[in-house]
Amino acid sequence: MTPSRTRINADLHCHSAVSDGTLEPEALAARAKANGVELWALTDHDEVGGQHRAIAAALDLQLPCLTGAEISVTFAGTTVHIVGLGFDADDPALVAGLAATRGGRRQRAMDMSHALAEAGIAGAYEGAAKYAGNPELISRTHFARFLVESGGCTDTYEVFRRFLVEGKPGYVPHRWASLRDAVTWIRRAGGIAVIAHPGRYKFTANEEYALFTEFKAHGGEAVEVVTGSHTAAEFVKYADMALEFDLFASRGADFHSPEESRTDLGTLPDLPTRLTPVWEPLQDRIQLAS
Ligand code: AMP
Ligand code: MN
Ligand code: MN
Ligand code: MN
Repeated sequence: MTPSRTRINADLHCHSAVSDGTLEPEALAARAKANGVELWALTDHDEVGGQHRAIAAALDLQLPCLTGAEISVTFAGTTVHIVGLGFDADDPALVAGLAATRGGRRQRAMDMSHALAEAGIAGAYEGAAKYAGNPELISRTHFARFLVESGGCTDTYEVFRRFLVEGKPGYVPHRWASLRDAVTWIRRAGGIAVIAHPGRYKFTANEEYALFTEFKAHGGEAVEVVTGSHTAAEFVKYADMALEFDLFASRGADFHSPEESRTDLGTLPDLPTRLTPVWEPLQDRIQLAS
């Protein structure tokens, strides 16, 4: 492997059953390997509990890998996701920060369940909890799976559209970590912070500029350019933003489940060659680097 090239098949964003994916870390590592991934990271939401299993499985498969997590942040009243890569997964401040970030999820899930009950959908908390592999991490995705199971919606995308996004009956606002805290936890644990799927946030141009500016000011260093959440036009837009803000570029499918995800591990286009990939400054943190 020559990890400095933009064209290596790196996939640095996916979820296991330790957060809101459906596969165990070992099965994800095997799927990444089978799909030709050459550098992999598991990035569960607000949780590093799957990291040791993911890395052990990847090493068994001779699959180079990095530690990872995707931290939920509230910025300008909107939920933004910050991926961390190549950190020490046992760093006490990072582990404590993630535990605090997970902390509000149970109450939010109960509030969502009450809101859904008022909209005529009973038993949503118990229904969602049944799908959660990690009791500390009940997410909207688990509610979406329950709502598909109980009929009325054909897939999880429809559930989100009709029930789980702002303005819909099951949406409950939530305050996550601050941008500063998330970036600082990642950096102090020796990792690199990455703005996840910026094309998803529906920010105005001014708000997006503020996100990138403040992210950099806190020590953030990278942005996802090629992700399953972006259109081809957004690959170009965020490649331009990476250059404008002097950020490293990342690539990842954001894979959650063989049944639900539109983009599989390792199947995205390469990063544009004009960018510097985030795996370049992470060379010495790649496990099993050749
Ligand atoms: P939570 O962290 O509990 O608010 O859940 C967020 C997760 O829900 C994301 O990581 C995605 O997996 C999923 N998600 C968010 N928005 C959508 C959407 N519009 N369609 C499908 N899944 C979504
Ligand atoms: Mn998710
Ligand atoms: Mn995300
Ligand atoms: Mn994700």
